[in-house]
Amino acid sequence: MRFVLSTRNAHKVSELADLLPEHELLPLPGDVELPPETAPDFAGNALIKARAASAALGVAAIADDSGLEAAALGGAPGVRSARYAGENATDEDNLAKLIREVPAGSALAYVCVIAVVLPDGTEHTVEGRCTGTMADARRGAGGFGYDPVFVADEDPAGRTMAELTAAEKGAISHRGAAVAAVVPLLESLAADA
Ligand code: IMP
Repeated sequence: MRFVLSTRNAHKVSELADLLPEHELLPLPGDVELPPETAPDFAGNALIKARAASAALGVAAIADDSGLEAAALGGAPGVRSARYAGENATDEDNLAKLIREVPAGSALAYVCVIAVVLPDGTEHTVEGRCTGTMADARRGAGGFGYDPVFVADEDPAGRTMAELTAAEKGAISHRGAAVAAVVPLLESLAADA
């Protein structure tokens, strides 16, 4: 299936191209404007991005949206994960704020939603979740964002996401789960096309 990936993140383009070798994945042309991500949930924001690319180009489009939910914060920062410590916050600012506000051992979840929008307006979303707990201190240099304090339930050794290799993280991560769910969806859409 041929589709445009609605993101300005080159890392996501190459990561998804590797994971979806059967499909023709087009980068988002520079002149396509993505609207602000104003939805209250991940699915809504992923759909905003996919709809904009599909409408502008007349082809199927895929977009994702992801973030962290902390039980101690009632599910925040959620869709505000990239801006948790302020509009221009860095990953380090956001991580430092999480460490100040969330007690060690409390529940966390990473969530990733991938949206697929077809040129006829048909819309689909799939969600991947990865549950874990807050570490008692930051550990590891891999990954990005909140990874140094996120201990995934699925890692028996209790390492943080930042202590895992990229392959180990992909095997248990929210993004890996969402990609695993989108593969059969794309197969069935390609078969129907
Ligand atoms: P986006 O979906 O790429 O815009 O990511 C939103 C934000 O969620 C990121 O800036 C990070 O703060 C957080 N986030 C999403 N996925 C991860 C992850 O795998 N590790 C750490 N932080 C993540």
